[in-house]
Amino acid sequence: MFNRSRRNLARWFTLSMGCILILFAGVIYNLEVKDKLKALDQLLYKRAELMAASSQYRLYQGRKQVDLSNIPLLGSGSHPADIELVYVRWYDPNRKFKRFFGTPPPEQLKTASGFLTIKSIDQLTGETIWLRQVTLPVQGGNSVIGYLQVAIPLTETQNDLREFQLMLTLAVPVALGLIGLTGWVLGGIAMQPVQSAYNQLQRFTSDASHELRSPLSAILTNAQVGLLMATDRPQLHPILENIIDSTKSMSTLVNNLLLLARHQGQLTPESLKKVNLNNLLEDLAVHYTTVAAKASLELIGHLPEQPIKLWADPDLLRQAVENLLNNACNYTQSGGTIWLRLEPHPDRAVIQVIDTGIGIPEADLPYIFDRFYRVDTERARESGGFGLGLAIVQQIVQAHGGHIHVMSNEGKGSTFQIKLPLISHNFSRQRVSKRVMMSR
Ligand code: ADP
Repeated sequence: MFNRSRRNLARWFTLSMGCILILFAGVIYNLEVKDKLKALDQLLYKRAELMAASSQYRLYQGRKQVDLSNIPLLGSGSHPADIELVYVRWYDPNRKFKRFFGTPPPEQLKTASGFLTIKSIDQLTGETIWLRQVTLPVQGGNSVIGYLQVAIPLTETQNDLREFQLMLTLAVPVALGLIGLTGWVLGGIAMQPVQSAYNQLQRFTSDASHELRSPLSAILTNAQVGLLMATDRPQLHPILENIIDSTKSMSTLVNNLLLLARHQGQLTPESLKKVNLNNLLEDLAVHYTTVAAKASLELIGHLPEQPIKLWADPDLLRQAVENLLNNACNYTQSGGTIWLRLEPHPDRAVIQVIDTGIGIPEADLPYIFDRFYRVDTERARESGGFGLGLAIVQQIVQAHGGHIHVMSNEGKGSTFQIKLPLISHNFSRQRVSKRVMMSR
């Protein structure tokens, strides 16, 4: 139980921190993309400005009066060698193409002024490449004398970003692993006080139940003796019978509490025996056929031919199946049927107790294994239960490394299914010893 809570704590911690980390990595990546583009845009703008200045033009911010015919052929090596230009294009004020270097331009400039990322085809290799392009109006005097369009490849920036992305992709899982580990350690530290408080409570319940057993059996014996001796005083009979019934009910409760407190998720290695499940269930089927018949119910046992054996505490296993059979008898109307089935599987044994009884409302199903949970007080009063039977079954099954599952249809019946692993003797002893050590 504590390991499960610790696992859940670690899982939630990792999940929440993981989400924050991934969000953070996403933001960092976006900022890096923006930064890189900004640097590239500045470079691109500088080159375009240089080009315009070298031919006595200034970009839009400039003032100089110039003649269009003075524009040099940009392909004649006027651009700096350290930047690989894909194309430089010059358009007249009417946006008509004039001169170019690199990739041939369209006749008419349709792009608005500013920066743009565009897809293009490399003229040499025929591959698709991404370009960063800037289109700028060039001003001479008070009027726009043309448009300059310059583009450079984004390949280097893309490679840098890919490297950064790879670094983040590797760093995020490593960080998540570390977060998970931290969550597990922190979960352990957080669970320690809860675990010790729980153990104390369990010890108290166990001691209190144990101490209550003797006075209860003394009351029961005295009341039974009193009933035998009061044959000549019939007015005392209902009082004494009431005491006997209440004491028996209290004894059941105390025994159940003791069972829950003592077998808190662990079994001692000494209590494990090789159990023949077919024999154990056959005994129960014979006994409960009589019990069921008294309530006008039919009990059908379905046990396989081949013996199914596992290492288990036979008394506890018997108690678990008995609780399910008791419930099936208590919550099935006369004339109904109960099945006790055992199914063999390669790695596990599956025990089923099926009834055609009153069923359990869907809303109650998640809680029926909780201690002291009863579906409604009316049916509980009739059955005389305290709502501990299924909690005990679940505890026993889990102590054996198994699972219990319930399916129910209100008014139609219920199916309780226990799955128990068929593990080897050594392995099961090791697992049990480990659990005992962990509980200390
Ligand atoms: P109780 O001792 O009160 O029967 P349990 O823990 O065994 O307590 O069961 C919890 C509740 O689940 C019961 O109050 C009962 O309403 C419901 N329940 C258990 N088994 C069955 C069943 N086979 N059919 C219908 N209801 C059931």
